[in-house]
Parts: sequence; structure tokens; C-alpha cells
Amino acid sequence: MHLPAPVSDLISRLRAAGFPAYAVGGCVRDSLLGLPPHDWDLCTAASPEEMKRVFAGEQLAETGLKHGTLTVIRDHVPYEITTFRTEGPYTDHRHPDSVSFVPDVRADLARRDFTVNAMAYAPEEGVLDLFGGQEDLARRVIRCVGDPGERFGEDALRILRALRFAAVYDFSLEDETAAAVRALFPTLDRVAPERLREELLKLLCGPAAGRMLRAFPEVFSRIIPDLSPMVGYDQRNHHHRYDLWEHTVRAVENVPPEEDLRLTMLLHDTGKPAACTLDDAGEAHYRGHPRISADIAARVTEALRCSRAMQDRVTRLVLYHDIPLRTADGAPAVDRRFLLRRLNQFGEADLRALFLIHRADRIATGSTPPEREDARLRQRMEALDALLREKPCFTLKEMAVNGSDLTALGLRGPAVGEGLARLLSEVMEGRLPNEREALLAFVKSDLINL
Ligand code: ATP
Ligand code: MG
Repeated sequence: MHLPAPVSDLISRLRAAGFPAYAVGGCVRDSLLGLPPHDWDLCTAASPEEMKRVFAGEQLAETGLKHGTLTVIRDHVPYEITTFRTEGPYTDHRHPDSVSFVPDVRADLARRDFTVNAMAYAPEEGVLDLFGGQEDLARRVIRCVGDPGERFGEDALRILRALRFAAVYDFSLEDETAAAVRALFPTLDRVAPERLREELLKLLCGPAAGRMLRAFPEVFSRIIPDLSPMVGYDQRNHHHRYDLWEHTVRAVENVPPEEDLRLTMLLHDTGKPAACTLDDAGEAHYRGHPRISADIAARVTEALRCSRAMQDRVTRLVLYHDIPLRTADGAPAVDRRFLLRRLNQFGEADLRALFLIHRADRIATGSTPPEREDARLRQRMEALDALLREKPCFTLKEMAVNGSDLTALGLRGPAVGEGLARLLSEVMEGRLPNEREALLAFVKSDLINL
């Protein structure tokens, strides 16, 4: 196993001072999987005060001191070093009633959630693996350290973490761990929403997210109750081959693994059950469902304490997931006017997102070949790329005149805003160039004293 130079140096400094020390947790797991760890956590027998003496004179962050964590910063990279500890009972299913520092790494490993997360490594000792973590990595399973029922009883967040690690590494849940998930998922109610959100978003971006959504709909419905009516919901519409939950799962799987996009697809059709109407032929329609889904998305993202930006973006993308992107004959609409209007309405980033969402939503119906949707997506993106290379004007900000120019010509009050909107539309429709003289001339000839 290869440790970065600062990590092996931190370990040997602690060891030279007489304190056992190891790399631990996610970094050991990822290294053994051959993946680059995104951070390196260390653990040691030294107390925070003792660590401070060992690393005196270095750049330190003391924010975690109460929990036994000192952060040493080297070359702008933080390394968290935490004193070995055990945890007391968890009466609230969330936090240990107490934590105590202990001299033995074994007790520290035993409090960790899964065997693959409960390994430590030091160059002098190799991998310290008390619970069969390496074997579980090889067999690709997530298994609790100790009794799964007890471990989930201590901290219900571990239920979702189990699914998260399985989704991210494409592992399965060991049988007893899976059984405990199914028995204890209602205790997720007691977990802080921001912790659920963090795990849920990582899970949704994992390569096996779809497999987890299919296998554990009750867990996701517990976190987001609006998902529950979709499970097993017959869409009764000839465009749809799958029930609403399977459609949703496929839609999630078919957008790129970005948090906003994956969450948008999870929520995009939550409004369908409430919007359902049947026509005379017995076929179901869902007119107005994006509005209902968007209201749900706004509520869900707020309840999960998503950032303001994420709440707004996911709500917006859900609201517009269904906007028409095709011409009357069914081909992608890629003409200049259409794209400029959509750019004006959504901006470049959201328009690209809507193209991706549209493709995923179509593929997830099961009634169109994915290759056809891929080709349509490519056509849309290429047309957009080509248009944007011309640096076209599609917002007021980019226009060659502004409100003061119109005021200087004598326009007042609402006429200024209306005039600007008219100019932008003339420019976007290609009837006027985005040039100052031409725009001012148009104002004088067409907008004054009408
Ligand atoms: P990531 O790749 O997401 O950082 P990680 O395994 O490092 O994964 P963290 O949440 O950073 O996950 O936690 C670091 C380590 O702390 C875990 O590997 C695990 O050993 C332990 N741990 C974290 N959360 C819990 C928990 N709720 N219960 C028990 N042990 C936990
Ligand atoms: Mg980590």
C-alpha cells in the first residue's frame, strides 16, 4: 500500500514519540481497492494535547479537539488525526452518550460501521484487519462490524451509509446486514436531514444507485415520503413500458452522475399520481404533473437542507423537465430562433441539463431505442455548441444598449423595460444586429411616440 509522503511522515513522527499511529478508514479501503483516496485520516494513541506537542510549530487546526481530532496542514492539505476512541451507548439512535479515549487501536476499529471501513494501516505493521474487511472487499460486500441490528440501533444513519457504499462501489449487502436494513429503516426518521442528504446524494451518484433504488424502495420512501406512491404504480399509458418507480430508477440511471441531475430525475415524476386522469379509452394522462412535481421538489430539497442554489435548480429542472424540444415532425428543434429563446429562458447550463434530462426521461419510457435518443442529444448539443461559438446575444445584459440609453432618448417608466425587451426580441429573431447605432435608430423610428 502506498502512503503519500506527508502521511507516512506524520505516522513516523507520532511513532518516534512513542504513540502507535495508523492511516484508517476510507483511505485504507480505497487504497486496497486501487482507488485514489480523497483524504487521508489518521488515528493514534496520542491525545490531542500530546499531538500538539509532537507537531509544535506546524500549521494546525484545532476545531475538532473536543472529539479528539487535531488537523495538521501540510502544503495546504489537511490531515485529520484522531485519538483512538470508543463510544458509549446511543440512547437517541444518533449520537453516542459519551466518547472515551482509549489506548488500543482495536477498540477504535470495533466502533466503526462496516468491515471495509474498519481497517488500519501502518508501514511497520501492514494492514490491521480484525473483521475480515479485505475478504469483504474481495467478495464485494458491505457487512457491519458486529451485529447489524445493534450497530444500526446505535446510529440509524449507518442504514443509509450501507446502501451508499454498495451504490458507490457496486457492492452488495451481506444478508444479515440487508435484513437489518429492512427491519430498522423506520429509525432513519431520527437522523438529521443534512446527514441523510449527504449520504443520499453520494448514493444517487454511485454506479449502482439504480440497483439500490430497486432493492430498497422502502428506505428511500422513508426519507422522501413522496416517492412511496410511485412504487408499483401502473402508468396505464402506451408510451410507458414500466411502472412509475422503474421509470424513475431508469431516469436516474440515464443522467450523468451529478447531484442536481440525479436528484431531479428522482423527483421529476412525483406529481404524476396526483395529476392522473383517465380518458374514454382508459388511457392515463398526467397533464400538469411537472408543476406538482416541482412543488414537491421544492419541499423535499428544503426538508433535506439542500443549499439554496440546489433547491432552486432542482425545482426549476423538475418544473421544466417536460418542455417541448422537438419540431412538429418529431425531430430535435435545433434552429437558431428556438435555441436562442431557450437560452434566454434557461441559460446555457440549465438548457444543457434539460437536454440530458429529456434524453434520460425518454430512454426510461422503454419505448424508444437508446441509440436514437443518444443521436438526438448529440444533435442538440452540437447545434448549441455551434450557435454559442458565434457569441449570440440572448440576454438583456449582452445587448449593445441599456436602460439609460433608452431614457436618454426620452423613454420613461415601463416603456424602458418594454423597449429593451422588444429590442432583445428583434435581435434574437435576427431582424436587428446587436449593434448600438442600429438599436438606437430602431428606438427612434419604431419605439418613440407610437
Ligand atoms: P468517504 O469516501 O465518503 O470519505 P469514508 O469511509 O472516509 O468515506 P467518512 O464519513 O469520511 O467515510 O468516515 C470516515 C470513517 O469513519 C469511516 O471509514 C468509518 O470507519 C468511520 N465512520 C464514519 N461514519 C460512521 C458511523 N456513522 N458509524 C461508525 N463509523 C463511522
Ligand atoms: Mg472520508
